[in-house]
Amino acid sequence: MPPTTISSNGSADQTAVADPSGSSTQAVHGHLSQRVWQPHHALTTPITQTATYTFKNTADLCDFMEAKMWGGGQERGEYGRYGNPTVRSVEKRIAALEGGGDALLFPTGMTAVTHTLLSILPTGSHIVMTNDCYRKTRQFCNTFLTRLGIQTTQVPMGDYIALADAIRPQTRLIISESPTNPYLRVADLERVVAIARQHKRIKTIIDSTFATPINQRPLEFGIDLVIHSGTKYLGGHNDVMAGVVVGDAGLLHALRQSQGMLGGVADPHAAWLVERGLKTLALRVRQQNATAQTVARFLENHPRVARVWYPGLPSHPDHDIAKAQMSGFGGVVSFEIAPLTGEEPADTTARFIDAMTIPYIAPSLGGVESLIEQPAYMSFYELSTEERLSMGIKDNLVRFAIGIEDTADIVSDLTQALAKI
Ligand SMILES: *Cc1c(COP(=O)(O)O)cnc(C)c1O
Repeated sequence: MPPTTISSNGSADQTAVADPSGSSTQAVHGHLSQRVWQPHHALTTPITQTATYTFKNTADLCDFMEAKMWGGGQERGEYGRYGNPTVRSVEKRIAALEGGGDALLFPTGMTAVTHTLLSILPTGSHIVMTNDCYRKTRQFCNTFLTRLGIQTTQVPMGDYIALADAIRPQTRLIISESPTNPYLRVADLERVVAIARQHKRIKTIIDSTFATPINQRPLEFGIDLVIHSGTKYLGGHNDVMAGVVVGDAGLLHALRQSQGMLGGVADPHAAWLVERGLKTLALRVRQQNATAQTVARFLENHPRVARVWYPGLPSHPDHDIAKAQMSGFGGVVSFEIAPLTGEEPADTTARFIDAMTIPYIAPSLGGVESLIEQPAYMSFYELSTEERLSMGIKDNLVRFAIGIEDTADIVSDLTQALAKI
């Protein structure tokens, strides 16, 4: 799919020249042909901290309204819920990075997910979802969407026959994460698209948060919409929440219209922080990819570790597909601590985590600081071991979200912590 550029009114300019820049250049500059000269010769995008926009006189207002009626008029702002230049700037950069016609920024990743599903799914429709999806996304489908008469079928990740079989006449959407959390399963995007395209009205969505546009560009495989939690790698500093949806300009236009109604708009200061984070995205992700690969190999050879889940390892069930469709395997490594006789696996694992000195114990991932967690306690605390196991979450599982600290320091921290158990 040839990259397109977005004119300031948000519509895609299909005739624009493709941007031949690499991902680092794009992360810093966005699409080079869209360079914006800022007020006061500033290099950076100003934070336009305004809730509304003014009109000089009634004629000015009428000109704007007239242009808007004819589909233009977006050169300037009208009201904060309908757009903001700082937000627009980061949207264009993310669209360029993903190779999409347009992008829409949201205050959180979950607003991006819920807004998109609410906007595109008619009452009575049906979703097919892979079972390793973000837990809150699954809960949203099983609670809110069920109330609207929208049914969801979960299929095992990696089972494409089950995926094709789950499709009903009412199916409008196939949604998957890739890679998934916490087992880093990778969806075969070509197969997902091929299954969807056997039917007329099925759209495909990939939550690509764990991959980032540096490691994977799902739109190039024919996926319709890509979603990111910008809170993770895009922002990259564990200091801002954001979400984004990227795709073709027509679909994005419809989502933008409903954003004016549903009202989940990103704050300009948050947008500015995401844009600042984006400039170092390629650098950070390459470092995180490299450290994660080293850590995964180190853990796989360690006697205190029972199993490692990392798509960059040949032992991972989706290694071949990851190698074919990703240019890096990401910064998250999941692994199981080998059980000890006479101690609950959950306790051994907790002792290991508590012995680590570099990573903080915290949810989230993708920032400069390494974070570590035991999913049994962090996301599934209220469940019994048996209930967790039925959801595929073992008590000895560790999710390690690697930051940008020195690889050698992280490996020696793991070495000393594993020696303590
Ligand atoms: C964090 C996350 C979300 C939700 O994003 P928020 O910014 O926390 O709302 C959705 N999907 C994935 C894969 C995530 O990791």
